[in-house]
Amino acid sequence: RGGPGGGPGRGGPGGPGARPGAPGRGGPGGPPGGGFAGRPGGGPGRGRPGQRGQTQGAFGRPGGPSRRGRKSKRARRQEFEAMQAPTIGGVRVRKGDGETVRLARGSSLTDFAEKIGVDAAALVQMLFHLGEMVTSTESVNDATLELLGEELNYVVEVVSPEDEDRELLESFDLEFGEDEGADDQLVARPPVVTVMGHVDHGKTKLLDALRSANVVDKEAGGITQHIGAYQVATEVDGEERRITFIDTPGHEAFTAMRARGSKSSDIAVLVVAADDGVMPQTVEALNHAKAAEVPIVVAVNKIDRPDADPTKVRGQLTEYGLVPEEYGGDTMFVDVSAREMLNLDALLEAIVLTTDASLDLRANPEQDAQGLIVEAHLDRGRGPVATILVQRGTLRVGDSIVAGPAHGRVRAMLDEHGDTVEEADPSRPVMVLGLSAVPGAGQNFLVVEDDRVARQIAEKRESRERAAMQAKRRVRRTLEDFMASMEKGAESQELNLILKGDVSGSVEALEDSLAKIDVGDEVSIRVIDRGVGAITETNVDLAAASDAIIIGFNVRPQGKASEMADREGVEIRYYSVIYQAIEEIEAALKGMLKPEFEETTLGQAEIREIFRSSKIGNIAGCMVTDGVIRRNAKVRLLRDGAVIADNLDLASLRREKDDASEVREGFECGLVLRNYQNIQTGDIVEAFEMREIPRS
Ligand code: GDP
Repeated sequence: RGGPGGGPGRGGPGGPGARPGAPGRGGPGGPPGGGFAGRPGGGPGRGRPGQRGQTQGAFGRPGGPSRRGRKSKRARRQEFEAMQAPTIGGVRVRKGDGETVRLARGSSLTDFAEKIGVDAAALVQMLFHLGEMVTSTESVNDATLELLGEELNYVVEVVSPEDEDRELLESFDLEFGEDEGADDQLVARPPVVTVMGHVDHGKTKLLDALRSANVVDKEAGGITQHIGAYQVATEVDGEERRITFIDTPGHEAFTAMRARGSKSSDIAVLVVAADDGVMPQTVEALNHAKAAEVPIVVAVNKIDRPDADPTKVRGQLTEYGLVPEEYGGDTMFVDVSAREMLNLDALLEAIVLTTDASLDLRANPEQDAQGLIVEAHLDRGRGPVATILVQRGTLRVGDSIVAGPAHGRVRAMLDEHGDTVEEADPSRPVMVLGLSAVPGAGQNFLVVEDDRVARQIAEKRESRERAAMQAKRRVRRTLEDFMASMEKGAESQELNLILKGDVSGSVEALEDSLAKIDVGDEVSIRVIDRGVGAITETNVDLAAASDAIIIGFNVRPQGKASEMADREGVEIRYYSVIYQAIEEIEAALKGMLKPEFEETTLGQAEIREIFRSSKIGNIAGCMVTDGVIRRNAKVRLLRDGAVIADNLDLASLRREKDDASEVREGFECGLVLRNYQNIQTGDIVEAFEMREIPRS
């Protein structure tokens, strides 16, 4: 890995300046045999710009004449700085100058090492001494990257995918999410509404009822098509007002968009069946809406049912902070029947009034259009088809757009009746034909100046998505991974589980049995959610967020949950026999127990003489005074009875002129400590071994 100039006359560079920790990465071949942390890493031209930009030039001189004997001022400074390099448990790595290093979220130590021009193995070792055990290619979390950065005197800036995308757009002089233009160019736009609530409370029915009763252009034809969103018109105070409803099953769009940090909806309609009252998913939906800071209108549905109790629903929701207007609160409750089409206009009015009371929805229709993908699929005849929601600007046929990793020209636009439209203004959902690929729900789209720009952005996004997928796959958490990571002694000792079963009895039985597994106090099981029924997208969402495994007992995933689990790297395990589930989880937990190690001293050697080699570093000429020194053993350095460096490796061990795998008491040997140069005559090298104590 030496840079250029590491050729034959390895003169200049071989000097002490090339010692580990010296700045000027990109310099020529480091010490042969390598293994020195901070060995000159990258290729040429990577000398840090700025103050040390010169360094590389000095080192880069190809095979320059040796200038032994007279150290340049620079070389002396480098030598001094090398001594300042931090040593953590014997690992010496060149320190930064407090400069900022940008790393994509989920980077590995190899990625980090490349950025700062050090050896990845050194970072692995360093992190180990900081108490974390990871491999060099494994994704590590933000906190770990930052901690490591701090140790090395770098400011680590973890860049999220959103940030990356923002920068990508910036490089094309584009920005997503801003209304352009002065205040007087902003025009009121309709609210975008998401309908949420517990399963079977009538969300689908309500969306169907609203659509068939109120679509904007009723004459255009009775039948509307499902395109994932539609607009309705209603009259409030003699004025025609439009409302856009997001109409996707399972409300993927809402969660997907939230996960991507973009806001799709202005208002949430919370559907609660009057005969059933507040249920778990009602609360979940409520929390989603609150977290997104979206005002809520409550639709108390199924009031046609004889056992409907709308008053009870009001009381229940008050406990969750949704106080009805009639009780002095500020949430509008409307009693409706989706089946009987009762009171739907009152619901629309409530949405308009809530919008006016709490939001100022305006957009500039004159700018280049931007918005979000609501849903998309591949149509056999028409190719990729995406329903998009225009958020600002006006989208026109013929515009060049980039939509997530897809690009193209808008060939045609269709509305919810299947009619072609030429333009779509803010808050208008339309189906777009002409894209190169199928974008994902929640991704953004932008109109750009021409197709070439659209393609360039799309290609960059695509390759980034692919890389992110791979990184995700790397961190995919499975029970096997768990065992493996625990064998390595990782810190995380908690197994998060989500239990789903066919009947509540089986879920309880499973949870009880799990609680009885005796794993000591080193590891624990945490059931973060449980429930009866199919495995839903919400379950997968939660599992992805909390690194949990989903246990399905006699149940299967519903709708897109399975696909999503694949995408998110969430493991779902299916069982139909309780003891089998318990057995497997217990086995995994046993694997989670950290192995216990015990140290055995192998022997000691006394350093009698030190030979300084420009290539290899300091060679210790020793006499083995006790036991044996093994080439692959760990060693520590003792000086006057005190440990001055611990957990070191040997870079080489020699008897006479030959490499030796071990040297016994009474023999002389030469040894080199890996990444450690600070030795003196009289120091004691103690070799030891860690032996695993088998577990019962
Ligand atoms: P979702 O799971 O929330 O989308 O619920 P659906 O819209 O699929 O409705 C669940 C069931 O409740 C269906 O059988 C509907 O016909 C029924 N339902 C929906 N709204 C009403 C209503 O206003 N009154 C009555 N009686 N039944 C309704």
